[in-house]
Amino acid sequence: YLGKEVTPGFQRLDLLPRLLPVYREILQKIASLGVEWVQIDEPILSLDLEQPWLDSFAEAYHTLHDSSCRLLLTTYFGTVDHHLTLLKNLPVDGLHIDVSSAPEQLESFLTEDFSGKTLSLGCIDGRNIWRADLSQKLETLSQAASRFAGKLWIAPSCSLLHCPVDLALETKLEPEIKNWLAFSAQKLEEMTILGRGLNQGRESVEAILTASDEARQSRMESSRIHNPVVHQRVDNLTERDSQRNHPFVTRKHLQQQRFNLPLLPTTTIGSFPQTATIRQARAAFRKNELSHLEYLSAMRAEIREMIRKQEEIGLDVLVHGEPERNDMVEYFGEQLWGYAFTENGWVQSYGSRCVKPPILYGDVYRPEAMTVEWIKYAQSQTGKPVKGMLTGPVTMLMWSFVRDDQPRSTTALQLALAIRDEVADLENAGIGMIQIDEPAFREGLPLRKQDWKSYLDWAVKAFRVASSGVKDETQIHTHMCYSEFHDILPAIAELDADVITIETSRSRMELLDAFVKFSYPNEIGPGVYDIHSPRVPDASEMLELLKKASRYIDPTLLWVNPDCGLKTRNWPETQTALQKMVDCAKTLRSALQA
Ligand code: GLN
Ligand code: ZN
Repeated sequence: YLGKEVTPGFQRLDLLPRLLPVYREILQKIASLGVEWVQIDEPILSLDLEQPWLDSFAEAYHTLHDSSCRLLLTTYFGTVDHHLTLLKNLPVDGLHIDVSSAPEQLESFLTEDFSGKTLSLGCIDGRNIWRADLSQKLETLSQAASRFAGKLWIAPSCSLLHCPVDLALETKLEPEIKNWLAFSAQKLEEMTILGRGLNQGRESVEAILTASDEARQSRMESSRIHNPVVHQRVDNLTERDSQRNHPFVTRKHLQQQRFNLPLLPTTTIGSFPQTATIRQARAAFRKNELSHLEYLSAMRAEIREMIRKQEEIGLDVLVHGEPERNDMVEYFGEQLWGYAFTENGWVQSYGSRCVKPPILYGDVYRPEAMTVEWIKYAQSQTGKPVKGMLTGPVTMLMWSFVRDDQPRSTTALQLALAIRDEVADLENAGIGMIQIDEPAFREGLPLRKQDWKSYLDWAVKAFRVASSGVKDETQIHTHMCYSEFHDILPAIAELDADVITIETSRSRMELLDAFVKFSYPNEIGPGVYDIHSPRVPDASEMLELLKKASRYIDPTLLWVNPDCGLKTRNWPETQTALQKMVDCAKTLRSALQA
């Protein structure tokens, strides 16, 4: 389902009959080794599926079921109760459902007749780091136990790869906050406790339940979490706060007067290679081996050098290069109130890359400017415009461990206000372009289409609150990547950023097809080369992509840029690629102007 068809007319579902015998073979092999149960993950069941895909489940599991091991069909990240009849009739021995993110679905599983099947209840949140409400979970499990006597399993809602390993390894967290948390090891303990409570009666775990209740109570009442000033600001937001002074056309004119950029301006997405020297300096500063002043001058030297390189390459809009940032979310989390961070809370981000998401536990407040000095310094080194670089509210939310005691939409607005303040400080410091990155914007989309609108409404609003407090001649940029955007283009347009740079090069600018149906109103830079690989594309490839883009997008709205930040690349490759990119822009610029 998650595969992609490239050849027109080809249906990927047609591959299923060839795939199933391979699965059978593997299952038989596993069974022959003495394995009794095999879990098969089918998280797509939480989506709205078209009939042919639904039918394929019956076909698949009828083919697989007589292999000699038992199958646990596993779903997570949302409810699957819209497929209840299908699930009831599938010839599998067990079902795993996520009653942490979708507790309401349990009811259906308890009232329908699932007899004969084992039910694995994913009741401990595998994706977040809060201690569970054990009393309430035990209650739920007891209900299910009477219906699925002898056939009830207790599990985390999903794989624990989204959750750090062990809270015991954290030595620097405030004890009060630490007491609210559970990492993977603690979550497994919670499951053991629930199991004992279920099998030996509530009394057998009474003391633990009391401690768990007390931790919850302390969290609810803690003064660390609640900041009336922040609530007041969110409550006082008006429509005006999510609107720029004038529409884009007026702004474009003023911005052009201010910056006088050429047709097809060239820029990058923000970060430059995080070299060993940079990492070492940051690490040494953290360990107090480098004084504040030494660290500052080391980072300034990096910034100077990056500005010099960008000028040499001939880019039109420069960046400071982000040498001071460990990670685009953690860096800001560390400077905001309401956030705690861990020493060892690593989780997988993509491939072999890991991140250490900060923990957003309380009302968010920005005590002081977070980026202004760095950006001002970079701007002082060049006559070309330097883009200020911030992480947007939605991405801050999606890539943090977020509090579960208030709606995410409220937390997003608190983050938006903190970023709005930073944007204002950058503007006051004379920075004319400010990029607010939202790579995780699409990640927050709910699984079911019916829930999309309400998410997009609050996510768009959060971005607009963060970005709308500026003068018309201040140019707001945003950046998005890691996903497909064609189906949310109207929402992206509603962000009303003056410029968006967006990942498209890996799909050879497939996104552009969407611009036939939807004409994007503001300026846009579809990435012309893929930074996720060390390969430096040929100039002809880049030029071809750029030409293609200029056929779909009015060239006066078109920017030229790579498709994401360059922090994972090295310098030789980056320099060559950017040089080619700038040359291509020049070639096409002259052609268009001829
Ligand atoms: N400004 C960030 C960077 O260049 C954006 C990263 C991202 O899109 N994930 O690294
Ligand atoms: Zn990106």
